[in-house]
Amino acid sequence: MQKCSVSVARRPESVGLDVVLQGWVRTRRDSKAGFSFLELNDGTCLGNIQIIAQATLPNYDGEIKHLGPGCSVTVEGRVQASPGKEQSTEVLATRVVVHGKADPASYPLQKKHHSFEFLRTIAHLRPRTNTFGAIARVRNCVCNSIHQFFQEEGFLYIHTPIITTSDCEGAGQMFRVTTLDPANPPWLNEEIDYTKDFFGRPAFLTVSGQLDAEALACALGKVYTFGPTFRAENSNTSRHLAEFWMVEPEMAFFELADNMDLAERFLKRIFRDVLHRCAEDMQFFNTRIDPTIVATLENIVGSQFVRLSYTEAVEILKSSGQKFEFPVGWGHDLQAEHERYLTEQRFKAPVILFDYPRTIKPFYMRLNDDGRTVRAMDVLVPKVGEIIGGSQREERYDVLLERMKEQGLDPEDYWWYLDLRKYGTVPHSGFGLGLERAVQFITGMGNIRDVIPFPRTPGSADF
Ligand code: ATP
Ligand code: MN
Repeated sequence: MQKCSVSVARRPESVGLDVVLQGWVRTRRDSKAGFSFLELNDGTCLGNIQIIAQATLPNYDGEIKHLGPGCSVTVEGRVQASPGKEQSTEVLATRVVVHGKADPASYPLQKKHHSFEFLRTIAHLRPRTNTFGAIARVRNCVCNSIHQFFQEEGFLYIHTPIITTSDCEGAGQMFRVTTLDPANPPWLNEEIDYTKDFFGRPAFLTVSGQLDAEALACALGKVYTFGPTFRAENSNTSRHLAEFWMVEPEMAFFELADNMDLAERFLKRIFRDVLHRCAEDMQFFNTRIDPTIVATLENIVGSQFVRLSYTEAVEILKSSGQKFEFPVGWGHDLQAEHERYLTEQRFKAPVILFDYPRTIKPFYMRLNDDGRTVRAMDVLVPKVGEIIGGSQREERYDVLLERMKEQGLDPEDYWWYLDLRKYGTVPHSGFGLGLERAVQFITGMGNIRDVIPFPRTPGSADF
């Protein structure tokens, strides 16, 4: 008798096997004919397995008959073909060991349907629901694909620091890391003396691993970093978290067009894998969350992303006849409503926007010959908006130095970043994909707080 997952026990070819199953009861039904049905889930798949527990089992009256949602059990028994239409197999129990009861009077998942808002207040229990189990499996699949894709493409997986002293682009949006006593900090004149702090200087949680990744790409060729990222921006939206995961590839000898090609292939690979490997979960999202989601992903995998310069996009928006809350004008950042118009109404497809005005993008993006735009690219998808942001990096020392000064940065703070342009500089590019935005898009979930197990947002870090 071997431990077996529910996902394996549900396969028709498992009929005849003696198995040990372990998990949590979803429901119990009693038959008048002297036995009970237990629906068991162990997280390995969306579906449950039906356990038949006969009244002849020694603990039937004492324990089994009292099992209900949330109880944990080990079941030994034989897999047999099920006469039911819903499932192809079931398990006839020879032994049921009860590990933990769950008082039906207080167990919060007693009822079948709960709002996502309520489930956020029980983030420790929501993984036991169909929706959050499916999200966890899709998220895992996406991470697996990310690594497989880059490994197959010859990238090195590198690790960039989480604690950083370079305030890349997020002035005022970073979480400070300090060991100073807030009640009694060391003062130097009117200001806190951070030379007395742990690192001898101000330190923060990273907003992006890009700058460090560039140093590695400029030695190793193609690299990617994949880790937690922190933004203290006070944006309480359905698409922003204070802590999220970002995968950031950085490639030497890649120009903007190569960067866009890579991003497109990368996303298609992830979508294709999820459709393939998480078919049951995706069907669930299609039925319960968004009836267009599977068709949308299939469509995207088989078609080309639209590529559009920022300037063209502004023209399209201006002549769209659409009423927008925020006015459209060359030089202004596009708002979510503009992005949605392009992806959902105009093109009904992912759109890669490139060549943005230099004034609205960071110093490190490569200046175009027109002097007005930089080689930025954002990948926009329907509903979620931007899921990838990237660029070709400025590799010319003098131009980079000018751009830093123009944006009020002190070149001395970036001495090592400038060194990369001083010694053996190369054209290079990279981008960042927000993992949760990707999972949000794939599952159709409306709020990003529901695609990470324990979300952190302004005013909320409860678990
Ligand atoms: P946005 O304009 O949507 O706030 P951004 O331009 O600030 O995003 P980038 O700095 O380009 O984002 O980061 C790269 C990617 O990281 C984004 O395309 C997005 O997928 C993701 N991302 C950025 N900020 C957040 C956030 N607060 N929560 C979750 N994902 C984020
Ligand atoms: Mn961006």
